[in-house]
Amino acid sequence: MEQDYITLTIGKQKNIALIAHDGKKSELIQWCKENEEILRRHFLCGTGTTARMITENTGLPVKGYNSGPLGGDQQIGAKIVEGKIDFVIFFSDPLTAAPHDPDVKALLRIAQVYDIPIANNKATADFLIHSSLMNESYDHNVINFNKSIAERAQNLPH
Ligand code: PGA
Repeated sequence: MEQDYITLTIGKQKNIALIAHDGKKSELIQWCKENEEILRRHFLCGTGTTARMITENTGLPVKGYNSGPLGGDQQIGAKIVEGKIDFVIFFSDPLTAAPHDPDVKALLRIAQVYDIPIANNKATADFLIHSSLMNESYDHNVINFNKSIAERAQNLPH
């Protein structure tokens, strides 16, 4: 019988996505400066404007996806599904309405589904980045989608 969960591994070298809403960009850039030594050991990517501003202000290499309002959050969500991103720092702005709010919610949800560490404020980001697990690989259990698809295809009316 197939297992309900499969074990995936977040490697020692993490694939970290960095995202900040406009009102939080300077806070994230400052955080990246403070943690530059640690971040340099990992692979970094981010939504377009955030990625560019971090690189310009810190020199850290950050692969840029589209800008958030133009689908960047969705690209990052898709990379989580593909197993290419396994760690997210997302300084969202709780006091400003965003046109791409549904995309933001979708990213938070998919990170939850795939059991991805995700920080949405500085204190959480500080606790995550200083965790001893940053220097180790980490096994976690993720829903076995092959089993789930097979069962749904079998059991749904057709
Ligand atoms: P940005 O997108 O980095 O392109 O500004 C971030 C966001 O608003 O989600």
